[in-house]
Amino acid sequence: MNTNVPVQNSLLRADAKLKTASVALEDFRGLVREKVIYILSVNLEGMGLAKRLRHLGFQVGGFVDSRYKKNIDGLPVFGLDAFFNSSDTPNRVLIVATKDRVWKQKSLERAIGSGYVRGANLFTPLDLCPYFPTIEIAGKCNLVCKTCDMGLPGANKGRGHMSKETFRKVLEKLTSEIPFLNSVALYTWGEPLTNSDIAEIIKIANKMGVATEVSSNLESHKHLDEFVLAEPEQIVAPCAGIGERYERGRTGGTWDNYLKGLRRISELKKKHDLNISLRIMYHIYKDNLDSDYDEIQKIAKELGFQVIPILAHLFPGQVFRHAVSGQNIPEVMREAEQNLVFGLNDQLRFAQARKDKPCHIMQAFPTIAWDGRVLHCCNMQTPFVGSRRYLDAPLDEFIAIRDRSAFCTKCMDVGVHRFFDVNIKLQEGENGREVIRL
Ligand code: SF4
Ligand code: SF4
Repeated sequence: MNTNVPVQNSLLRADAKLKTASVALEDFRGLVREKVIYILSVNLEGMGLAKRLRHLGFQVGGFVDSRYKKNIDGLPVFGLDAFFNSSDTPNRVLIVATKDRVWKQKSLERAIGSGYVRGANLFTPLDLCPYFPTIEIAGKCNLVCKTCDMGLPGANKGRGHMSKETFRKVLEKLTSEIPFLNSVALYTWGEPLTNSDIAEIIKIANKMGVATEVSSNLESHKHLDEFVLAEPEQIVAPCAGIGERYERGRTGGTWDNYLKGLRRISELKKKHDLNISLRIMYHIYKDNLDSDYDEIQKIAKELGFQVIPILAHLFPGQVFRHAVSGQNIPEVMREAEQNLVFGLNDQLRFAQARKDKPCHIMQAFPTIAWDGRVLHCCNMQTPFVGSRRYLDAPLDEFIAIRDRSAFCTKCMDVGVHRFFDVNIKLQEGENGREVIRL
C-alpha cells in the first residue's frame, strides 16, 4: 500500500501519521509456504487472525495459550511448554497476538530462544495488519449519556443505519485493501442493536473470515437473540454502576433491561455453546467503585462476563474544541463532570503531561460512519476525511488525505490524544478503594 504522499506542512508531527503493514500478503505466502501457523493467545485479535488466515487458505494448526483447555473455533489449544518443547519448529510459523506488553515481550523472547526468527517465521499481528477499522452500523442511539456527544440535544437528527447490502460492499472493499484484516468493531456513536440487519451483518463478516466486536447498551432486546445467535466474537456491555447509578451514567437506559440483557446473552451462550467473549466495561465514577463494583463482579462471575474497570470520562470531541479553541464544554457534560473521579481540568493536565507520547487510537482507521463517510478519528464525530465516501475512493487516498491533515497534530500538541487514557487499577487504601490512573 503506497502512502508515501509528501507531507505538505513541515509542522505536522511525524507520529501523527498512520503506520503501514511491513509484510504484504504475497510476501507472507512466500515465507509460510507449507508451514503450519500457530497463534499465541486466545483473544479477539488472535481468534480473528485465525479465522481470516483460514479464509485466505493458510493452514492454522491451533492456538498457544495455557489458560484454555478446550478447542476454540474448532482449533486445538496447546500449553506454552508443550508448544515450545516441540521439535517441529522448522515446520511452524508463530504469530504472537497477546496484547499485554510485558507478556508479549516475554513470549517473543521465548520464541526466539526456541529457534523462531522475527520476520521469517515469527510475527505479531501488527506486522500483518496495523489497522483496527470500525464500521458504524448504527448512527442513532437510544440513550443520551451525558458524557457522550450522543447525549447532546438533537444528536440523532439526520443520522441513520447502515444496511446489510452496504455493509457487505464495505467489508468486501476493506478486506481487499487490508487482506489480513482480522477484526472489525461495529460501533462508534450509535446503538448496534437498533439496526434490524445486525444478525445478517455479523453473518456476512463471519463468512468473510472477519471477527466482530459489538458494544451494546442492551436497552433494546428486539434483535438481541438473533444477534447473539449470529455469534460475534466479542460482546461488550458498558456499565456505570448498579440501579440508579447505572441509570444516571447510562442516561435514558434502565438497570432492569441491562441486567435482563446480560442474563439472556449468558443463557444463549451456554445453551448453544457459542464461542463469544463477554465483557463488561465498568465506568468508574466517584460513587460506584465500592459496593456497586463488588455487586457487578458477582453478577459477572455468575454470568460468565469479564469485568474491566475504566475511568468514566467526557468524550474527547468537545474537549478538543475546548483545549484548541477555548470553546465552552456543553452544560450537560458539565453536569456529568460533577460525578467523575477526575474533573476536566485535572484530566487535561494529566493528559498534557503525556502530550509527547503516541496516540493509542490512531490506528483505528478507517472509521466508516453509517452513511459511508470516513471519520478522521474514531473518538470524535468530526472532521471527515475528504468529501468522498469509503466506497467511492481507494483506502490509500483516505490515508494520504488524513496524513496531510493537521488535525492529529493539533490534538497531540494540546495532549487531547491522551485525555481518553481511561485505563486504571483499583487499590485498597486507608480511606477505602482508590483509583490509580495507569
Ligand atoms: S455512550 Fe453509547 S449508549 Fe451512551 S449515548 Fe453514547 S453512544 Fe449511546
Ligand atoms: S485522538 Fe487525536 S491524535 Fe488520536 S487519532 Fe484522534 S484526533 Fe488523532
